[in-house]
Amino acid sequence: MLIFRLIIAIAVILALFYVYRRIHSKFIAGRQYPTETKTIKTREMVRCEQCGLHIVKTEAVERAGHFYCCPQHADKR
Ligand SMILES: [Zn+2]
Repeated sequence: MLIFRLIIAIAVILALFYVYRRIHSKFIAGRQYPTETKTIKTREMVRCEQCGLHIVKTEAVERAGHFYCCPQHADKR
């Protein structure tokens, strides 16, 4: 009955591997999702009112609620 024990041993190893992968993937997902939403928030895109260029909000020039790609375009208005 050696083959039987071998099959059981393989089944146990596969079950443990499956459980390990599920826990591990949950752990990775839990760690990745918050950082992903953070990068989306900090990388919010705005459109330049002068030339229509899309730029990251943090790098845009803001004048009276309007966004521009550079100070020259902000002053042109
Ligand atoms: Zn512009």
